[in-house]
Amino acid sequence: MATIGENMQAVKRRIARAAAAAGRDPASICLLAVSKTHSAERIAEACSSGVFAIGENYVQEAIPKMQTVSALLGGDGAAALEWHLIGPLQHNKTRIVAEHFQWVQTIDRSKTGRRLSEQRPAGLAPLNVLIQVNISNEPSKSGVSPQGARELAHELSSMPGLRLRGLMGIPEPTGDTTLQRERFRALHVLFRQTQLDGFPLDTLSMGMSDDLESAVAEGSTMVRIGTAIFGQRERPVREPQVQLAGQT
Ligand SMILES: *Cc1c(COP(=O)(O)O)cnc(C)c1O
Repeated sequence: MATIGENMQAVKRRIARAAAAAGRDPASICLLAVSKTHSAERIAEACSSGVFAIGENYVQEAIPKMQTVSALLGGDGAAALEWHLIGPLQHNKTRIVAEHFQWVQTIDRSKTGRRLSEQRPAGLAPLNVLIQVNISNEPSKSGVSPQGARELAHELSSMPGLRLRGLMGIPEPTGDTTLQRERFRALHVLFRQTQLDGFPLDTLSMGMSDDLESAVAEGSTMVRIGTAIFGQRERPVREPQVQLAGQT
């Protein structure tokens, strides 16, 4: 089995190749390591291979891991880390998120933003936030509609405890690269329009282990990579995982 360090090198090569093919600077694409279900020890290992941004989906899982990773890395290493919440955020958890995370990528209503802004401790920099957009228009998915993103950008921009950095999207899983690129292109267009509206956005979070090439081709500035760094997730997070045919 490949080590986390080897996986990291492979992911960086994929990003570099996709960036070169698109005529982009690979340094303009941030690699977010998505560590849900993986231990603090494995996160610390990823950090020693050059990860400084970590994505977690569940608040209760993330907080104890943050503390262990900090202890493993020690002061300076821990201080350089950025923790991103990339899962849905319930209102009863906004305070602990405002106190512990540096980024929240899943804002899809102004009420959540308002709570986070009010609860962000005064001694900390404003919380970086992304608006989650439902790019595939799936009724079951979280995220604001593309039409709703502009209004939400206006509302979030006026909140002193927040810094609106950009947009995030999770398209429906598909192996069809044409469809992948269509979805990512649509999110990039919305990102550009929102910038032209006067919002100083610098972050377009799109692309995961299976579709990062399409996302980079369409302008992603942050790819969120779990499986390709840490391997398959073994422990189900919430609902029992269905074994798909051919998967071991
Ligand atoms: C789990 C997750 C990822 C990482 O997915 P992989 O396919 O394992 O790379 C990225 N983004 C979000 C929102 C996730 O929940």
